[in-house]
Amino acid sequence: MNQPVSSSTPTSQAEWQALTERLSLEGRAYLNGAYQWAAKGETFLSVSPIDGRELAAIASCDQSDADQAVMAARNAFEAGIWSQLAPAKRKAVLLRFVDLIEANGDELALLETLDMGKPISHARNVDVPATARAIRWTAEAIDKVYGELAPTPHNQIGMISREPMGVVAAIVPWNFPMIMAAWKIAPALATGNSVILKPSEKSPLSAIRLAALAEEAGVPSGVFNVLPGYGHTVGKALALHMDVDCLVFTGSTNVAKQLMIYAGQSNMKRVWLEAGGKSPNIVFADAPDLKKAAAEAASAIAFNQGEVCTAGSRLLVENSIRAEFVGLIREALKTWRPGHPLDPATTCGAIVDQGQLDRIIDYIGIGQSEGACLVEGGQRIMEDTGGLFVQPTVFDGVNNQMRIASEEIFGPVLSVIGFDTADEAIRIANDSIYGLAAAVWTSNINTAHKVAKALRAGSVWINHYDGGDMTAPFGGFKQSGNGRDKSVHAFDKYTELKATWLVLE
Ligand code: NAD
Repeated sequence: MNQPVSSSTPTSQAEWQALTERLSLEGRAYLNGAYQWAAKGETFLSVSPIDGRELAAIASCDQSDADQAVMAARNAFEAGIWSQLAPAKRKAVLLRFVDLIEANGDELALLETLDMGKPISHARNVDVPATARAIRWTAEAIDKVYGELAPTPHNQIGMISREPMGVVAAIVPWNFPMIMAAWKIAPALATGNSVILKPSEKSPLSAIRLAALAEEAGVPSGVFNVLPGYGHTVGKALALHMDVDCLVFTGSTNVAKQLMIYAGQSNMKRVWLEAGGKSPNIVFADAPDLKKAAAEAASAIAFNQGEVCTAGSRLLVENSIRAEFVGLIREALKTWRPGHPLDPATTCGAIVDQGQLDRIIDYIGIGQSEGACLVEGGQRIMEDTGGLFVQPTVFDGVNNQMRIASEEIFGPVLSVIGFDTADEAIRIANDSIYGLAAAVWTSNINTAHKVAKALRAGSVWINHYDGGDMTAPFGGFKQSGNGRDKSVHAFDKYTELKATWLVLE
């Protein structure tokens, strides 16, 4: 039995650091009910962006490991040890899994922070509870969904039912490693599939740890497998595999497009994609509370170091209040100063790796050369710590054609764009290849509805930013993806619809 590494949650940086020293980090793949190194023995190093410290050697899986995992997953599926269990029994196991996630919350939060640099207070108070909530909500829902009976003539019966896909491969990113994984594995497992989870090579530790907790909860061998490794090796092998039935993905739009090609080149597996965003946050002069709007606009770009698919990275502000509002944003950003991620007071942590930091710094340079006005931040800081930190950055006077307004940066860089009318705001907001999320701030109910209806985005928030819970589907329009995570709509991705027709004698 896995004992939690802490008996009470640390309350200071020193205590979190002490807990770090006590951790024993697992870097092996979890395949068919056992931890094992990659078949070819390849490894890569997990390095913390907090201070450059080497955390662990991680199994670098490839095609041969993918083949083994798919075979184990297929055998488990065919054996029916999970796929044919009553939904209420799968629910009970998943609820035990959630209990174990909560009992081991300090350790899981720490793995997340060490691996990808987010503040420990967010990892502990946002990522762990949101992961638990996603799995619990989904597990509790699974024995409450019904099939349908078709409206048939009296001598016929038409049953419409949902059946699990079979083998599901889930490829996830590094920004919310556990939450993104939970949004996939919870509905995939709840509906009876066998799952192979491929975490990002930048943040594999929590996924590897989850495997042991799933096993302890009673998920049978072969039903849940974790294959760490690179996208172009094990990720591609899974995406091209002839015996993977369904591929679910969260990550960049470029990789999402590649996965559609792989599916077409192989077995036409179902492909469901949650991809990038460049979300507009629209503030009208009659917003009910400009200070609150500014505080949430600051959080929308600085939370998780701006490494958020729904980051409110395009702030559209009515020109009559733009100068005042930019002042309020700069004030609000003072509560988002980067600090040591293990300090519980820190709100803005380290950037995931050198490549991502370079990308953010490059975009700040691009914004300046495009003629946008840098009004806040713009610098790499705390270099002496050996960590990767950048100031939350604001550009004013941006136009929507500039690269900083049209391309996803995935860092704390905000573009402020002025507008004069609702129609102009809608046109600018929708002038993007993305359509993940959007927000509108106004006291006028007509403006709120008119704009919300016109926005081409999967989630629209009115007078707040980033609302919603497990009851609402989440996903994108346009090149932000297809299909939806969360809510009962997520079950559609993991099941095939079957019509069984009976003609009575
Ligand atoms: P990424 O696309 O680089 O990588 C995502 C995953 O895909 C990783 O596990 C990676 O190893 C794998 N991968 C890369 N190349 C692959 C290939 N050729 N074949 C198979 N797998 C491959 O994205 P990232 O940098 O990890 O994450 C950032 C991106 O994720 C951003 O674009 C962000 O908007 C997006 N994101 C979207 C959502 C959403 O719900 N829409 C949520 C979080 C992040």
